[in-house]
Amino acid sequence: PFEALVIGGGPAGAAASIYLARKGFRTGIAADRIGGQVLDTMGIENFIATSYTEGPKLAAQLDAHIADYDIDVLKPVRAAKLTPATELGGYHTVELDNGAQVKARSLILATGARWRSLGVPGEAEYQNKGVAYCPHCDGPLFKGKRVAVIGGGNSGVEAAIDLANIVGHVTLIEFDTQLRADQVLQDKLRSFANVDILTNAQTTQVTGDGDKVNGLVWKDRASGEEATVALEGVFVQIGLIPNTEWLKDTGLDLTKFGEIKVDERGATNLPGVFAAGDATTVPYKQIVIAMGEGSKAALSAFDYLIRNEPV
Ligand code: FAD
Repeated sequence: PFEALVIGGGPAGAAASIYLARKGFRTGIAADRIGGQVLDTMGIENFIATSYTEGPKLAAQLDAHIADYDIDVLKPVRAAKLTPATELGGYHTVELDNGAQVKARSLILATGARWRSLGVPGEAEYQNKGVAYCPHCDGPLFKGKRVAVIGGGNSGVEAAIDLANIVGHVTLIEFDTQLRADQVLQDKLRSFANVDILTNAQTTQVTGDGDKVNGLVWKDRASGEEATVALEGVFVQIGLIPNTEWLKDTGLDLTKFGEIKVDERGATNLPGVFAAGDATTVPYKQIVIAMGEGSKAALSAFDYLIRNEPV
């Protein structure tokens, strides 16, 4: 059995496992892969103190840093079921998808999230070649260029406002007949001269020249007619889904969106169970934030372990 078990091998989980191992705890990390979403990223320009790096390189560095410590890496596995401890200081049980049952006195849940995709032709093909999901990450790559934002909820309209300050032109495309974002955000967006808003519009294809994105095809849902927008970038903002399906009905508090509720110390409602990164309620889903939150949750687990004797 472990004193601390981390679930998920992205930046949050990697940071948590290193912090815990450095406290001398018997630490494990159960992960499908080390790196998480970072492995799906190309250029990274906002990993502070590193002007430029690439996802696979940063993921390899996470892997190497974990290997510096006595951390049991259980990989490739996915956690399938959580049975929380029944007493303070007791063991939680995590069942893995290979059938193994792992016990630990404290847990750090760091299973991250995934962007909801449009599922239209061209989207997957041109990911990192014009199709992007994170305006904070990739907005500056499109300085002065033309982009579309798909999705008229708060995240889509916030992204469009953010991008309107940086890029040449933004077309916001909403499937519904109206935007769903807060009115104050809609008003702000409409104040930009370089923004067009299309509603009742279904994106049907992302087009490219084989190398990078050059346009987008959308259908007017009222008339059924299709039109093309020439552009260099497409930001898909139709939802970020936490990887927490396996945590439903365990007694762990989740929001209606499936995010794990944590306090300012990364503690959940279950004693000895902590969480960090994109899977939680902590706002702004970024690498540096996930690493900071993972470190914080690990220090909170340390506090818990030294205050509660094993039972
Ligand atoms: P994740 O990175 O999502 O890692 C969680 C891991 O846990 C994943 O491997 C997941 O598959 C795994 N997992 C899920 N369920 C289970 C389970 N049941 N059992 C075991 N493992 C499980 N951020 C930046 O700061 N800068 C950028 O430039 C940037 N660019 C990005 C580009 C793209 C294309 C994407 C998708 C994201 C980008 N981000 C960027 C966001 C950043 O990658 C995330 O905020 C960060 O990786 C979150 O870290 P995390 O550890 O919380 O979760």
